[in-house]
Amino acid sequence: MTSQVQVLTSRWQDGQAHQLDRYQELDGYASLEVAFAESPADLVQIVKDSGLRGRGGAGFPTGMKWGFLAKGTGKPTYLVVNADESEPGTFKDMELLERDPHALVEGVIVSAYAIGCSTAFIYLRGECGFAGRRLAAAIGDAYERGLLGRDIKGSGFDLEVVLHRGAGAYICGEETALLSSLEGERGQPKLRPPFPAVEGLYRAPTTVNNVETIASVPWILRKGVDWFRSMGSERSPGPKLFSVSGDVRNPGNFEFPLGVPAREVIMEAAGGMLEGKELKAWTPGGSSTPMLTADHLDVAMDFEGIQAAGSLLGTAAVIVMSTDVCIVRACLNFTEFYAHESCGKCTPCREGTDWMRKILTRLERGQGREEDLDTLQDICDGIFGRSFCALGDGATSPIVSGLKYFRDEFSQHVRDHGCPFQASPVVVGADH
Ligand code: SF4
Repeated sequence: MTSQVQVLTSRWQDGQAHQLDRYQELDGYASLEVAFAESPADLVQIVKDSGLRGRGGAGFPTGMKWGFLAKGTGKPTYLVVNADESEPGTFKDMELLERDPHALVEGVIVSAYAIGCSTAFIYLRGECGFAGRRLAAAIGDAYERGLLGRDIKGSGFDLEVVLHRGAGAYICGEETALLSSLEGERGQPKLRPPFPAVEGLYRAPTTVNNVETIASVPWILRKGVDWFRSMGSERSPGPKLFSVSGDVRNPGNFEFPLGVPAREVIMEAAGGMLEGKELKAWTPGGSSTPMLTADHLDVAMDFEGIQAAGSLLGTAAVIVMSTDVCIVRACLNFTEFYAHESCGKCTPCREGTDWMRKILTRLERGQGREEDLDTLQDICDGIFGRSFCALGDGATSPIVSGLKYFRDEFSQHVRDHGCPFQASPVVVGADH
């Protein structure tokens, strides 16, 4: 059995850790001393050696990403923190920012020092007012205490941090769209290459890293690479936040070493299924990752384990659905989101998500045809791998996995001329 750990969550129950004095009493900002005693290149090597992988979805090795930053360009190097958390089912970064905002500020300082950045940006999802207020206060307090600004703690290192609030577009979580939005342009993905590491923000070398990733860096500096690698697996080391929602008794964020069996996350930490309910399906990494079923409860929740089971770890957002949930309606719900959030730049995603939405609505209203199932699959095949960015691929995940595991439930909607589950006034009354 893998026990829960308290690393990133260690200050969450304190209740006062968002205040600078209390954060420092709890060893906050202790990693600055460790960092400033090392050369930036050595810090990058430490993060490489730790095996830390990005916690925002893709799981790319953080130290390697930093190592790709172009050098000697004569331009500044930028660190941009992606705090635009909006994947359905994911709420880990927001709780971290609400309860422990200095953890991110501390991570930004040591990460910026490592990559030679003197202006860092935090791109925050605009709707997250409380997290934004806590983070803005933390940044302000850090400036007042000399932890940001010029000559931080006498190190000679200068750092300005800019907090930027987005306007609530899911696509701005994609790094090139985020950078465009930060520059004041329309938030749409850009062709790569050039990669942001060479030409990112204002055409300067830029790394975009997730909140949880950056907040993990101070722990690695303070406690060491071996400590970090003592948790998780060889290729997916360290602790990880898991957001659990849906039909469970105790939804919330839980921290485990990567590789924890899904059963422990869902059935133990999250308290198991609500009374009288049975597990039907769950997403391992938010709505854009293929659903798994009750047969997958013993899968190891790390990048490799979930991939071997046919899905993706994504943001480790576990949405739990019971046998009372209509999979067609769940797919429609997710697809409504993707059709709305598609940025419209490429045809497969822009048109395909809307076609999928229309067909799923038809099925749910009892107006579906048996051939709709193959048409849905065809549309997904036309989007997956043929869209400009990962949003298109992600939009196909609920439907492809829904058809894979619950095809008969789709057919039943056709045979019964309607949804066999309790009526949904939202769908029945929707005018599409
Ligand atoms: Fe925009 Fe969708 Fe194409 Fe991505 S896949 S560029 S979100 S239209």
